[in-house]
Amino acid sequence: MIKVVIDGKSYSANKGERLIDIILRNKIDVPHLCYEEGLSTTGSCGLCLVEIKGKGVLKACEQEVYEGMEVITESEQLEEERKKAFLFLLTYTSHPTECLFCDRYSECSGADNCLKGLDIKKGCKLCPKDGDCVIQRLAERFGLLGSNIEIKKVREKRYREINEPFFIRDYNYCLLCSKCIRVCYERRLQNSCIAYVEQEGHLIHFTEKACVFCGSCIDICPSGVFQNDESRPDTWIKSVCPYCGCGCGIELGIKDGSLVKVKGDKDGINKGELCVKGRFGISFVNSNERLKTPLLKHNGSFKPISWELALDIICKKFKENIGKIGVLGSAKLTNEENFLIQKFSRLVLKTNNVDHCARLCHSPTGVALSMSLEYSAMTNSISDVEEAKTIVVIGANPTENHPIIGLKIKRAKANGSALIVINPKRIELCEMADLWLSPAPGTDAALLTAIAKIIVENGLQDTEFIEKNVTGFNEYKDYLSSISLDEVIDICGISKEELYSAAELYAKRKPSAIYYAMGITQHLNGTQNVLAISNLAIITGNIGIRGGGINPLRGQNNVQGACDMGVLPDLLPGYKAVWKAEERIQFEQEWNEKLPAEKGLTLIEQKKAILDGRINVLYIIGENPVITDPDVEGTKEALKKVDFLLVQDIFLSDTARLADLVLPSASFAEKEGTFTNTERRVQILNKALDPPGSSMSDQEIICMIAKKMGYEKQFSYTSSEDVFQEIRKLVPEYRGITYERLRKGGIQWPCYEEEDPGTEILYKDGFKKKARLFKIDYLPKDKTTEKDYPFLLITGRSIFHFHSGTMTMKIEGLNQILPEPFVEINPTDAFKLNIKEGDQIRIISKKGEIKAKAIISEKLKEKTLFATFHFPSSPVNRLVEDDFDPLAKIPAFKAIPVNIKLLKLSH
Ligand code: SF4
Repeated sequence: MIKVVIDGKSYSANKGERLIDIILRNKIDVPHLCYEEGLSTTGSCGLCLVEIKGKGVLKACEQEVYEGMEVITESEQLEEERKKAFLFLLTYTSHPTECLFCDRYSECSGADNCLKGLDIKKGCKLCPKDGDCVIQRLAERFGLLGSNIEIKKVREKRYREINEPFFIRDYNYCLLCSKCIRVCYERRLQNSCIAYVEQEGHLIHFTEKACVFCGSCIDICPSGVFQNDESRPDTWIKSVCPYCGCGCGIELGIKDGSLVKVKGDKDGINKGELCVKGRFGISFVNSNERLKTPLLKHNGSFKPISWELALDIICKKFKENIGKIGVLGSAKLTNEENFLIQKFSRLVLKTNNVDHCARLCHSPTGVALSMSLEYSAMTNSISDVEEAKTIVVIGANPTENHPIIGLKIKRAKANGSALIVINPKRIELCEMADLWLSPAPGTDAALLTAIAKIIVENGLQDTEFIEKNVTGFNEYKDYLSSISLDEVIDICGISKEELYSAAELYAKRKPSAIYYAMGITQHLNGTQNVLAISNLAIITGNIGIRGGGINPLRGQNNVQGACDMGVLPDLLPGYKAVWKAEERIQFEQEWNEKLPAEKGLTLIEQKKAILDGRINVLYIIGENPVITDPDVEGTKEALKKVDFLLVQDIFLSDTARLADLVLPSASFAEKEGTFTNTERRVQILNKALDPPGSSMSDQEIICMIAKKMGYEKQFSYTSSEDVFQEIRKLVPEYRGITYERLRKGGIQWPCYEEEDPGTEILYKDGFKKKARLFKIDYLPKDKTTEKDYPFLLITGRSIFHFHSGTMTMKIEGLNQILPEPFVEINPTDAFKLNIKEGDQIRIISKKGEIKAKAIISEKLKEKTLFATFHFPSSPVNRLVEDDFDPLAKIPAFKAIPVNIKLLKLSH
């Protein structure tokens, strides 16, 4: 540390720091515009002038501090120089001045109410910076408000880019500070995304296709280049993004009872950064298509009815069918609502037939990690990503599906971590990976077991960790010796050299972290895949250490929470077994009633039970199985056959259209509650809006039905916090978490006491029971190609849509970027079949067929295809069979044998 004297006061600084950082850290008033902490320095605005003893007037952003440096920041001369620099900047960039020099800008309430009566077409326009315009503040600082200074315009009119999905770019406002370019390259690590190019003789920013619309350039622009319809909010309410499992903090900008803008919460795990869905995909809450009243189907069409009548019908149907009812909760709902869904099912409907969409994404994680370790959850934290020396990303595409975690992985790689990507598709991370292994789809268990064999046979395991923490190592070692490396190589199609490189990097360069997602779990051997990952982390001692761990990336915002809350047919909240009297009793005592002891039916089993008459009534809350379940036609058939289908949702989804009765519910922005993100972090949502029409939160609806069914006492809650108090009593891992604490920031479970800060890294202090190794059945189990179905289709997601599109397809900009279903195909296959980019093709499996637009892509190997499951118009899950993994009961979404036929030429 060194000492620097600024305006006569001494400040500590790190040697080599930039002077401006010390100035800003200590809130010393020096104007600046092009400087941004954490980005490179350009000094282009010339505003941060200070006087340095012995050196003269210089830009603070360009000066490194040194011991004894003496600085003056306040003087008439400095202010005059800064003003000159400011006026030069405005002249040089031909910046408009109408709004800038307005003496009433601080009272400005928008273009419609201009206090100066300006015709906005000619003069000032609504400030796209929410009144937070840096240059307007500078104009005030330099006494320019109300002035008639003529800024000599170098050019009258500059280019405006209007064909952007979320904003227009008006280069008349550009100050050439290059902040947008630097934030894109340096902070978001987007290559070739944004740059200056010359247009009509002027420099403008040009965005390549690679833009993922994270919005960072808009947020950082000090001027008004990026403009859209977002108006200035009256108030900001903190919440949590309702899309992926990253759990980014967002702030909802509210004006006149509507959502007008969203920004990242700097206190969130995302530190204010967002992806396109979090930044631009939230306004679905304002959609006119929101359900506003209960709807009853009569003669094939829906009619609005009163809540009273709806409740009468529902209770009658439920009472008549006790024992023959299935319930589906949702990973989109809050913990409190999911807790109530399973309580309602078990207590009121007397059934354990309650499940949710985690069955289709991470059920193998739940099964495998509770077998090998203790908790079925990510062992480490999102912030750990950047601590890993080696990162393995297997069966996941984080930059697309978990963008903020993907960004952290890119930063870790840029800062020196080794990166191994294991994926049949050439995903974005492959471009920077040290090693990309592209196994045949469905062969991950073989590949991972081969790596474990190499590690153990070359003595690369962590013997000390194993002796202290692991049971069954000798048997596991014997099992590995019995495996033929040549056989596994043959199965997964990866060379011995590549497998050795992966084994050495992972085992020798610790801490090593594995990140995985549905490319691992959505197979008929999904549980074996996760066990194989767990084996690798255990034998190398990569558990319980910062930067290591087994890190399942949850697809939806509250997958972890819905599982924690026991929306599972065999597990009560806190993963207590329904079939064990000693684990059930606590719930029975709390709820004052006996609970069913028999394991219930999973989501797929419920569908089969409908078809053979064991289930008559289905209650679906916040899910859209018609699009998201395998075997779309079979799902539709079951939903049509059920005697009474009750659907509760915010939109009339494809599933809701089949319902007998639809209940309108509140969105995440219209209620209070908590979500638990992929790293076990419980975070609070605040109510920002009133729900539309007579819609209500799922909590209110479930409690209303339960009370009418005679369970007044057990469902009389005054708030979501009231429900959370009950969760705390029944789920020990949540016991120390309170709403009061959550209002100050998220807390990671397990958290047993109110003084407990929560758990960033599981097993850091050892294991209650020793970690277990498992012999893996590594033979692939998914169906494979055959003569009539010579391609393997991999299904997945796009960054621009989410799940079945019920929310994202209400956003015009997202639809503009990704308007229709597509299938990616390798150029060689396309050439052989005479398929050109944009042609419409049919994809046919044994289960059904869909149509999609062909995209020729070198990211895929020959004979493999890729399609997303988002589009109801072309439901990819129609092609998926509903065979499942015997332990986790998940279907194989990731390797579907198909054929393709050219349908229509694009030209
Ligand atoms: Fe939302 Fe996930 Fe994007 Fe974060 S990364 S803004 S949680 S979709």
